[in-house]
Amino acid sequence: MARHVIVGGGTAGWNAITTLRELDQGDSEIVLVADETPYSRMVLPYYLARDIAESHVYIASPPKLAALNVDARLGARAERIDASAGKLILEGGDEIEYDNLLIATGSSAVKAPVPGADGKNVHSFWTFPQARAVASGVGEGARVAMIGAGFIAFTILNALVNQGVKLTVVELESRILPRMIDDTGAGIVQDWLNERGVEVRTSTQVTSIEDKGDAKLLKFKEGPDLEVDLVIMATGIKPNIDWVAGSGLETNQGILVDEHCRTNVENIYAAGDIAEGPDAVTGEKVVHAIEPTAMQHGRVAAANMAGQEVAYKGSLLMNIVDVLDMEIASFGAWDDADAEVFEAVRPERPAYRKLLFHGGRLTGAIILGKTREIWTTNDVGMLKGLVYTGVDILEWKEHLRENPFDVKRAFLASGAAGGLLPETVLGRPSISAHEIAISS
Ligand SMILES: Cc1cc2nc3c(=O)[nH]c(=O)nc-3n(C[C@H](O)[C@H](O)[C@H](O)COP(=O)(O)OP(=O)(O)OC[C@H]3O[C@@H](n4cnc5c(N)ncnc54)[C@H](O)[C@@H]3O)c2cc1C
Repeated sequence: MARHVIVGGGTAGWNAITTLRELDQGDSEIVLVADETPYSRMVLPYYLARDIAESHVYIASPPKLAALNVDARLGARAERIDASAGKLILEGGDEIEYDNLLIATGSSAVKAPVPGADGKNVHSFWTFPQARAVASGVGEGARVAMIGAGFIAFTILNALVNQGVKLTVVELESRILPRMIDDTGAGIVQDWLNERGVEVRTSTQVTSIEDKGDAKLLKFKEGPDLEVDLVIMATGIKPNIDWVAGSGLETNQGILVDEHCRTNVENIYAAGDIAEGPDAVTGEKVVHAIEPTAMQHGRVAAANMAGQEVAYKGSLLMNIVDVLDMEIASFGAWDDADAEVFEAVRPERPAYRKLLFHGGRLTGAIILGKTREIWTTNDVGMLKGLVYTGVDILEWKEHLRENPFDVKRAFLASGAAGGLLPETVLGRPSISAHEIAISS
């Protein structure tokens, strides 16, 4: 019986487990090595908002893993790989032989190198313990500084503002969401935030975080000091790659994988935030540290580990976030300087669309609009579908040049919707864990 060893129990690891069991109904050994009980980072903002209980953050309890016939080594950490012997070595010295090894160890938050960044009440927001620490420090009237105005910062903005936090967002670059939207979009979002009481300081570098009694005092290269009760550092993440050094795996920013999620070392796969695999639009290898990529990688890797020959077309860069009832999303190559660009703003709504074309193919898009306006939410899905499927919409191009807001007709005519179901990486929808039948 084949033994599959999976390191990391986040989205990628968990999807690999359920896919293996979907395909083999229990007819293999699965060993999960995970330093945490599997949980979803993506729902941590809802935990912070007090919308869900702690128990709902977990994706797989020990009984659920046992029901799937998984030998779960929770609390264990992988230390290194001996690829020539086909062994994983754990901290503490235990060794586990594998037929297939999946590395799904995700990424970790990185704090900006600022004096005081490791002080009291200065937190990242990436793990469950970090989310708990932030949750216990915020409430009505709390003064919070968010350092970094990227996607992760924006996923928790609603939870903070809706609890009455007085929030100041500080960004080193000249605009907010610098790796998600362009200047026009960022300007609209910044106005939206200001109107809702969120202070935003861009082009601002924090030089130190000091204690001032129980409060924190932030100093900047330029501009006035800022006194707050709590600091959140959303200043980036880095794949958890250090432990694989010496294993012979090719790495760049992450572990390089092909369209099967295979690494250069036989029988070793990588998935999720740790993996640098093909981009669906450009074909270049990239790390997309987002949930859909972790899910797809996990499923593709597992299918190949189970003996199927499944290739996938690559992952789509996509970020979608709702900020105080404004939907903000970008897809694919949204900042491609070589693309043909059609854009339009409706300042009174406010709303913005930016469409990027290469020939008849939509290769990137940015969309902003009020969440409650149906055409915003519909267009988010349709633009994603058009970019991901890459269907030819040449005959609609001139129409979209004149009317970037009228995406619906091009989407319906393109047949992209029909292309999306087969695009569910394994060609069929996944089965939820409790529906999987395990043979005894
Ligand atoms: C607050 C927040 C909000 C987010 N919101 C979104 C969103 O709206 N949309 C979106 O697409 N993405 C979102 N993300 C990103 C998304 O959660 C990640 O891309 C996803 O969790 C990646 O899954 P993964 O399985 O690759 O890694 P992870 O979920 O990080 O899981 C990896 C696991 O491996 C463990 N591990 C690491 N090293 C070892 C070792 N040596 N031995 C054993 N175990 C180890 C880790 O502790 C962890 O449990 C969000 C993330 C955060 C933090």
